[in-house]
Amino acid sequence: MTRPGGKVAIIGGGMAGLSAAWRLSEPSWRERFDSITVYQRGWRLGGKGASSRGDNGRIEEHGLHIWLGSYENAFALLRECYAELDRATTDPAAPIHTWDQAMIPADNLGLADQWGSDWLTWLGTFSRNDCLPGDPNGNGREMTAVGFVRRALQLVLDFTDSQREAIPLGLTLTASPHPASAIGLMETVRRATVAALFSVSNPGALDGTPAVLLEQALDAIRGALEYEHRPDHKRAWLLISLVTAVIRGIVADNLVTDPRGFRAINDEDFGQWILRHGGHPDVLDFPLVRGVYDLVFGYEEADPDRPAVAAGLMIFLIGLVLFEYKGAIFWKMTAGMGDIVIAPLYQALRGRGVEFEFFHRLDTLHLDARHQTVDAIAMGRQVRLAKGVDHYQPLTTVRGLPVFPNAPLADQIEAKSGLDALESHFGERTDVEARVLRRGVDFDHVVLAVSLGMVPIVAQEMIADRPEWQEMTSRVRTVATQAFQLWLRPDEAALGWHEPGVTISAYLRPFETWASMPQTLWAEDWPDDDGPSTVAYFCGSLYAPWPTTEDALNYSRRHTQSVHAEATKYIDRHLGLYFPNAVTEQGFAWHLLSGVNGQRGASALATQHVSVNIDPSDRYVQSVPGSDNYRLRPDESGYDNLVLAGDWTDSGMNAGCIEAAVMSGLEAANALLGRGRHHRIRGFWLP
Ligand SMILES: Cc1cc2nc3c(=O)[nH]c(=O)nc-3n(C[C@H](O)[C@H](O)[C@H](O)COP(=O)(O)OP(=O)(O)OC[C@H]3O[C@@H](n4cnc5c(N)ncnc54)[C@H](O)[C@@H]3O)c2cc1C
Repeated sequence: MTRPGGKVAIIGGGMAGLSAAWRLSEPSWRERFDSITVYQRGWRLGGKGASSRGDNGRIEEHGLHIWLGSYENAFALLRECYAELDRATTDPAAPIHTWDQAMIPADNLGLADQWGSDWLTWLGTFSRNDCLPGDPNGNGREMTAVGFVRRALQLVLDFTDSQREAIPLGLTLTASPHPASAIGLMETVRRATVAALFSVSNPGALDGTPAVLLEQALDAIRGALEYEHRPDHKRAWLLISLVTAVIRGIVADNLVTDPRGFRAINDEDFGQWILRHGGHPDVLDFPLVRGVYDLVFGYEEADPDRPAVAAGLMIFLIGLVLFEYKGAIFWKMTAGMGDIVIAPLYQALRGRGVEFEFFHRLDTLHLDARHQTVDAIAMGRQVRLAKGVDHYQPLTTVRGLPVFPNAPLADQIEAKSGLDALESHFGERTDVEARVLRRGVDFDHVVLAVSLGMVPIVAQEMIADRPEWQEMTSRVRTVATQAFQLWLRPDEAALGWHEPGVTISAYLRPFETWASMPQTLWAEDWPDDDGPSTVAYFCGSLYAPWPTTEDALNYSRRHTQSVHAEATKYIDRHLGLYFPNAVTEQGFAWHLLSGVNGQRGASALATQHVSVNIDPSDRYVQSVPGSDNYRLRPDESGYDNLVLAGDWTDSGMNAGCIEAAVMSGLEAANALLGRGRHHRIRGFWLP
């Protein structure tokens, strides 16, 4: 890595690129660099986390975005950003001034559970704790197998306590369970399981009697429960079987002592690993397990019959989700991700003097003759700015909140055709100029922060040059996703739903996840007398293999049509689980939809927001078994002036999520600044 100094080009303004810019532009950055410039295709920042405003000021997301209470680095960054923006002074009219107005705790989670031919919702409330995510001075460390085992045992205690409290279909998890109120079957289950687990978590135990005893104990517990007839009993036992198998696996595979920790089992799928360690086959269909697979779109080619998530990564994620949250298990945004995360970051970065070049599409990174550095960056300039405009200002306001619009702001650019295609790999290219940035003139250092789906397109020279780039781009996989948002006139209670703010997964494909999002409606701009009272976000993976030999426009058109058709079918057939009062024997009551510009009934359907995420840049980065070893670290590009940033790198988080993108961006900046990899990285990471 060359010494800091000179000009930094960050290519790609998603969470990873912006996080790199954030760390690089910390106070006195001008003593280290001459300039920091973010190059971004199209008119929006945020990448897969981008959202913008459409008709009626509607929030239009790529897909549902929820933050885990354990996203230490992402929350720390957001908190620093709001503190620095100081909107109370600089923009008092903006309705959101602070990070905790932007993000609110979301304690209610749910899983859809098939019981015979019916679907049930299994709802749970996770108790809060006194911490807050991203508190100043937080530190970071590896998540250890020992720590996981300890917390997993506590989970069983909490769970059986919650069942003992006789909440038939509910689940309450607390860090400090209430004292027992009654001793019954569940208490026996609890005592037997915990005793057996403690004995098996002794590393010497597996070959001996405790393992046999454990199996007998589990069988006996199952026999004593009404496993086939009561969903609560079945869930309790499956949770015990799951946790038991995980603990046995951790011990049997020596994860406690293996220096690779959880990574040691990342070549195996989680479900297969569970079965290998004695988990009951029904565990694979346990909603909790399916729900975590759903969380990371963890199916090969979006095929529900081919679940594929690296076992170690999955345990690490379960540990993060359940055991390491601060404040609340989930946090939800009070407006769009583009509004309350990306726009403030853009504003604060501009305030620090970071430059943004919108409408710049990276086409190719060129190496020098000795293949040691990035020598030139070939770009397409997509539009020309209007006369008198030096810098494109990407934000507009809705109800006083600075937000990204869903199309470029026409008064700042010269009129031209093809604006729709600016953010697409598929549309016709109508560039106004081919621009080549030269090393030593326009840039000295490069932060490659485009998404993984783009890497084979823009970094062909690196892939041809280095086997590790070749392996990274072929082994780390991506999947397309699909999402839609529905606005409905009645409130949730009138529709028959009584758990506001819940997020439910593990339901029917292709939209297995649903989130209740009424907390965002205040930020939209509907007419006072004709606005929705409910907004619901749905999301899932999509079978759309890439690359393809199919004509690009055909590919795009075909998937767009099929996602719209699937969304319509889904609403008509499956929404009754959540909104029973919105369906009749004829299907969904279309008149309940809030359409754009007052449209009602079936025509309102065409105006709901549907996102077809098939662009290579929008493809979700998966954590399939056998891929972890092939991720490159942000400081492992192999080229002197290039660092990597994105949820596809080996950041220690290694899952497609905001926290991974932030960690990766910060680590890329650390590398460029000559600091250690984990310098001021917080929370937990894989060893
Ligand atoms: C449907 C969906 C739902 C999700 N839900 C969640 C969630 O609930 N919680 C969570 O934590 N994570 C979620 N994620 C994952 C999260 O969005 C990503 O992990 C994160 O946004 C990745 O950030 P990134 O910066 O690594 O990549 P990206 O967001 O892909 O950013 C890459 C940037 O590079 C730009 N770019 C690409 N190609 C070029 C080019 N040729 N020239 C110039 N610029 C280019 C892109 O426009 C973009 O701005 C979800 C993802 C999807 C798809």
